Amino acid sequence: MKNMQKTRVPMKEAAPNVRNTNFEEVALGYTEEEAIAEASRCLDCKNHPCMEGCPVSVRIPEFLSLAAEGKFAEAYAVIKTTNALPAVCGRVCPQENQCEGKCVRGLKGEPVAIGRLERFCADWARAHSQHTGSPKTEKLPENAPRVAVVGSGPAGLSCAGMLAQNGCRVTVFEALHAPGGVLVYGIPEFRLPKSIVSAEVEALREAGVEFRCDTVIGRSYTIDELQEEGYAAIFIGSGAGLPQFMGIEGEGLCGVYSANEYLTRVNLMKAYRKDAMTPVLRARRVAVIGGGNVAMDAARCAKRMGAEEVYIIYRRGEEEMPARREEVHHAKEEGILFKLLTNPTAIHGDENACVKAITVEKMELGEPDASGRRRPQAVPGSAYEIAVDAVIEAVGTRPNPLLRMTTPGLESDRRGCLVVREDGVSTTKEGVFAGGDAVTGAATVILAMGAGKAAAAKILEGLGM
Ligand code: FAD
Ligand code: SF4
Ligand code: SF4
Repeated sequence: MKNMQKTRVPMKEAAPNVRNTNFEEVALGYTEEEAIAEASRCLDCKNHPCMEGCPVSVRIPEFLSLAAEGKFAEAYAVIKTTNALPAVCGRVCPQENQCEGKCVRGLKGEPVAIGRLERFCADWARAHSQHTGSPKTEKLPENAPRVAVVGSGPAGLSCAGMLAQNGCRVTVFEALHAPGGVLVYGIPEFRLPKSIVSAEVEALREAGVEFRCDTVIGRSYTIDELQEEGYAAIFIGSGAGLPQFMGIEGEGLCGVYSANEYLTRVNLMKAYRKDAMTPVLRARRVAVIGGGNVAMDAARCAKRMGAEEVYIIYRRGEEEMPARREEVHHAKEEGILFKLLTNPTAIHGDENACVKAITVEKMELGEPDASGRRRPQAVPGSAYEIAVDAVIEAVGTRPNPLLRMTTPGLESDRRGCLVVREDGVSTTKEGVFAGGDAVTGAATVILAMGAGKAAAAKILEGLGM
């Protein structure tokens, strides 16, 4: 029976004043009864507009109607046909702008909680040992084509998975010591438990994919050397991990971090655990500059690392913030202080060159700029200082230039993003393909996964498989 409630079934969350002291997951997931009730809100629309909003075309009405009948294993199987990482996407996709943004139930109430249900089905399958990951391949023949994948983020993982399923010998080269890309080094444990990512990586290993971590392509080996080694194709999914800075005075002081460095220390290198050896400043007052998901993650991590005051400093207003509404809401609940229409102009240090304060000035919004958002302008004479011990800059990232600098024939654009041909995945170098943030600049998990799959399809076509 259809559930015609206008509002979605709420999902339990850890209490804000408890969760902001630990790194356990914030959103606790649905029970079976809750999942059935929420899935029953789907009207099974003929034209399924929700699917248009999903970059990998998950068969949403089909999986929801199975979930509404309590057939969770079957629902999971449907999702897995198009989405290799549903437990991840169900947690981190910006659903409000994608599948849920198109759901007709959203016209007169709240859209069906598609992401939560996707997460539920994937968690249910894992808990019931039905997590199939990528289907295991039979032992590959000696002459199976070898493909190299550079980078093990969502683009690399989805490309590797599809290639392995279709009979390629895949080696994933990863610069860091653990596979997963931003899923392990950027997005914190309290939003995306790392056990979920490692289960996906294990499933790929079982499917025959080889992971070679601590291997920087462009340093350990060049792309040309990989080609000479006999890799029939190479996929570059190296992301956009090079942090940008504002270029203001004081950025060289001790206690100034890029969000990437801070998050890597806290998440990948587990600085939050008592037994970890990772050095990271446990500051009492922290300023995080930026208004995106990365800024929210850094601020919420800083709070959990023991900071008493954590400020988000953002030069536009809340309306213009690129972060997901849910993340802003969670950050506020956890006691993060928002200084909106505020722009930093200098960071000040003490006699030991450690951060002691930041100067900010008030802003007002003028006419729209090239991005369509209203341009912030400084209010004359409005500058003031905030006492802080650490500053974390989350003002954007770009692709690292290493690969284009060490690979003749691999072209990039002004922003350092790899140039691809009309097919969207072939680079300017023969036999080399690319996708994800390395091509688009910082984007989303699901777009990176879609690009990884599209590249795998192109590689398979080229190999006649
Ligand atoms: P990445 O995930 O960046 O992976 C690239 C991998 O390549 C890395 O592991 C890197 O170490 C490796 N690598 C780089 N160069 C080399 C080399 N030369 N040799 C070998 N390996 C190399 N998106 C969402 O959809 N929802 C969110 O909530 C969200 N939150 C985010 C929070 C943070 C803190 C950050 C930083 C990003 C967030 N994003 C989010 C964006 C999303 O994570 C990225 O768009 C996505 O991970 C891009 O995937 P990718 O595979 O292209 O690159
Ligand atoms: Fe929605 Fe993302 Fe799942 Fe697609 S993959 S249905 S956009 S949550
Ligand atoms: Fe169900 Fe919403 Fe998709 Fe309609 S648009 S099929 S109600 S999820």
